[in-house]
Amino acid sequence: MTRRRGGGGGGGWAGGFGGPEPDLTRRPGTGRKTLRLIAGFFAPYRVRLTFIGVLILITVSVGVVNPILLKLIIDNLLPGGPRDLGLLYFQTGLMIVLPIATSAVGVWQSYLSNVVGQRVMNDLRLALYTHLQRMPLRFFTETRTGEIQSRIANDVGGVQSVVTDTAASVLSNFATVATTIIAMLILDWRLTVLSLGLMPVFAYITFRVGKVRREVSTLTQRSMAEMSAITEESLSVSGILLSKTFGQQEASIERFRAESQRLGDLQVRGQMIGRWFFALIGTFFSIMPAFVYLLAGSLIIGGDTNVSIGTIVAFTTLQSRLFFPLGQLLNVQVEIQGALALFDRIFEYLEMEHEITDAPDAVDLSPGAMRGGVRFDHVSFRYPVAATQLEVAPEAAAAEAEGRAVPTAIQPFALTNITFNAEPGQLVALVGQSGSGKTTSTYLIPRLYDVDAGSVSIDGIDVRGIKLESLGRVVGFVTQETYLFHDSILANLRYAKPDATMEEIEVASRAAAMHERITELPDGYDTVVGERGYKLSGGEKQRVAIARVLLKDPRVLILDEATSALDTVSERLIQAALQRLMEGRTTIAIAHRLSTILRADQILVMSRGRILERGSHDELLRNEGLYAKLYHEQFVTEASG
Ligand code: ADP
Ligand code: MG
Repeated sequence: MTRRRGGGGGGGWAGGFGGPEPDLTRRPGTGRKTLRLIAGFFAPYRVRLTFIGVLILITVSVGVVNPILLKLIIDNLLPGGPRDLGLLYFQTGLMIVLPIATSAVGVWQSYLSNVVGQRVMNDLRLALYTHLQRMPLRFFTETRTGEIQSRIANDVGGVQSVVTDTAASVLSNFATVATTIIAMLILDWRLTVLSLGLMPVFAYITFRVGKVRREVSTLTQRSMAEMSAITEESLSVSGILLSKTFGQQEASIERFRAESQRLGDLQVRGQMIGRWFFALIGTFFSIMPAFVYLLAGSLIIGGDTNVSIGTIVAFTTLQSRLFFPLGQLLNVQVEIQGALALFDRIFEYLEMEHEITDAPDAVDLSPGAMRGGVRFDHVSFRYPVAATQLEVAPEAAAAEAEGRAVPTAIQPFALTNITFNAEPGQLVALVGQSGSGKTTSTYLIPRLYDVDAGSVSIDGIDVRGIKLESLGRVVGFVTQETYLFHDSILANLRYAKPDATMEEIEVASRAAAMHERITELPDGYDTVVGERGYKLSGGEKQRVAIARVLLKDPRVLILDEATSALDTVSERLIQAALQRLMEGRTTIAIAHRLSTILRADQILVMSRGRILERGSHDELLRNEGLYAKLYHEQFVTEASG
C-alpha cells in the first residue's frame, strides 16, 4: 500500500478516482462547477429561500427609512422650518415602531435561514456518507480512515457556518448597501460620488485577499485531516499497542506536535489575512464624514439650496450604515472563498466513481431459492495500480509480456486464468503459500473487486448481473481478522439478522461453541466487547464471528482460516464450530488446517496467482508436486502432533 505523508490532501488516493489533489490556484470553470454543485444542494429549498430573501429585503428597506426621518425631523425643527408638532409626533412615532417591527422580522428570518442551513448541511453529510458506503474496497485500502472522518466532520462542519450565517448575511448586506446608496443618491449625488469613489479599489483588494484566504483554507483543512489521521492511527487500540511495544510514543507525540503547531500557525494566518486591509477600510470610514462636512459645508456657504443641515446629518448617518455591511460583504467574499475550498474537498469525494455498481438489468436473488454453486471461468485479475506506482507499471507489464521476471514491487496480475467449479454443498479448499492469491480469489465472489477477464458466477449467473445487495446476502465471510463493533455481543450477532430471536441467537452461539463462554461473561450476551472486540481473545472473537455468519445463513460460505496459533482447546472448539457452519452450504475455504483439507471435495493448489495442481488429498500427494511439498512442510507435524 502506498501512503503519502505530509501532503495528505488526496490521502494517497489516486489512480483514476479523485484525480490529482485539488489545485490551489483554481482553474477557470472548476469554480463554476463547484457553484453548480452547491446550487444543487440548495435547490430543494428554493421556495423557503425566496421567502427568506423577501423578509431580508423588507427589514433592510425599512432600515434606510430612519436616516431619512432624521433629515425630515431636523429640517422640521430648524429655524426657518415649519416647526409642526403633529408632524413631529408622526415622525418620531415611526422611528419607534419601525425598529421594533424590523427586529421581530429579523429574528424570524434568522430562524428560517438556520433551519434551511442545517437541512442543507444534513443533506450534504448524508450524501457524503452514503456515497462513501458504496465506494469499492479499493478506496478504503488506499485512503486513511482519519482523512475520511475529517472530510465528514471538519469539512462539512466548516461549510456549515458559511451556509447558515453567511448566505443570509450576504443578501442582507447587499440589500443594505444598495438601498443606502439609492437613498444617498436621492439626497445628493455629489456627496455620494465623494463617499463611494474609492469602492472599486476596495473591491479589487478584497478579491486578492479572498484568493489567499482560499489557499490557506485548503491547507488548514488538509492539516486537520492529517491530525485526524494521526489521531486515528496512533490512538486506536492497534495503534497504541504498536507504539507502546515499539517504544515509539515519543515519536508519535513529536509527529502530533509538529502537525498541531502547523495547524495553529495556519489558523493564525487564516485569521490575520486581510486584517490590515479591514483596518484600512475602518479608518477610511472614520475619516470620510470630515470630507462630507467639508464638501457639504462649502456647498451651503456657496449658496446651494439643495443641501440642508438635515441632509448632512442624514448623509453621514447613511454613510455609517454603509460601513458595517460593506466591510462584511468584503469579508464575506473572503469567507466564501474559504468555504469553496471546503466544498471542493467534499465534492472531490462525491464525484469519485463507485466503480462496482449494479448493472441496470441486475437480478435480485432470494437466498431461499439459491443452490449456491460457484464457478470461476478463466478469471484474471490485477489490483488497480495506485498513481505512485504508475511509473513502474509499464515496465512490469512489458516484463510480463516478454516472459521476463516481473519486478517484485509490482505484481501485475494477482490472479491469472483461474477456473474451477464448486458444486452446491461442496467444500473447495484453497492452499498455497502466502501471497499466492487465495484471499484475492475469494474477494471476487461478493464483488469486492471485479474480474479483469473471465467471469465468476453463482448458480450460473454472472455475479456482475446480480444486485450487490442480494449478493451480500448470499455470500458469507469468516476472515482471519474478525471485526466486531464496540457494542454488546448481542448487538454484534444481531447485525447479521436484526430480527433474530434470543433462541436463534443461542442456537447459533452453541453451534459456534461460544454460548458457554458468553454466559460466563459478566453481563452475558450484553457484555460490551470493547473497541473492535479487544476484550475477547482471538479464538473467542472468531467464534462470535462464526455465530454471526450462522445467523446470517448464507448459501455460499468463504472461510479464510486463521493462521494464528490458537491453543488446542480453542482450536478444537473452532474446528467443531466450523464444521457445523459448513454443513449444507457451498464452502470455499482457504485452508490452514489439515482437517479441512482432508474433508475437501476438491483441493486447489495456488502459486503466484495460478492454480498449479488440483485434486483430492490422496491424488495430490501421489503427484509429489507443490502440494506434497507444502503438506510435508506444514501439515505433517500437525498431523502427528
Ligand atoms: P494469499 O491470501 O494467498 O496470501 P493474497 O490474495 O492476499 O494472497 O494476495 C495476492 C497478491 O496480491 C499478493 O502479492 C499481495 O501483495 C497482492 N495484494 C493483496 N491485496 C492487495 C491490494 N489491496 N492492493 C494491491 N495488491 C494487493
Ligand atoms: Mg490471505
